[in-house]
Amino acid sequence: MPTYTTQCESCGATAPLRLSFVNYESVKLGVKTLECGTCLGKVALMFNPGDVSFVLADGESGGFQSKAMKENTYRAKRRVEMARRTREHIAPRPLIPNYEGQQTENWREAQESARKDGKDVSSYNPLIRREGSTP
Ligand SMILES: [Zn+2]
Repeated sequence: MPTYTTQCESCGATAPLRLSFVNYESVKLGVKTLECGTCLGKVALMFNPGDVSFVLADGESGGFQSKAMKENTYRAKRRVEMARRTREHIAPRPLIPNYEGQQTENWREAQESARKDGKDVSSYNPLIRREGSTP
């Protein structure tokens, strides 16, 4: 609870007073009156923001500090995850020219090897065409 400073309207005595926000509102609106501890006169709240210092208590989900840590941890994980997704969304590298897993100079060479083995070589044609268009 924040601590406020009160001042008696009759004798001018000041005193610190801890008030919840609800009580503070009541006092400020005049719904609730405070008595001077010295003369039982009416006391008023002094405006003194320097005295309004408080720490928000940790709730079930933690306080602000732990929330900030959770947020930072979440964001760090998110960054790693997003970087991974970005990497995986990059178009896969084009097929390396090969025949039966053996790397060849180009697809034409691979097709020649396949032809020598008496295989159907038509599937190499689109690869050779694409190879021709990108020097
Ligand atoms: Zn007083």
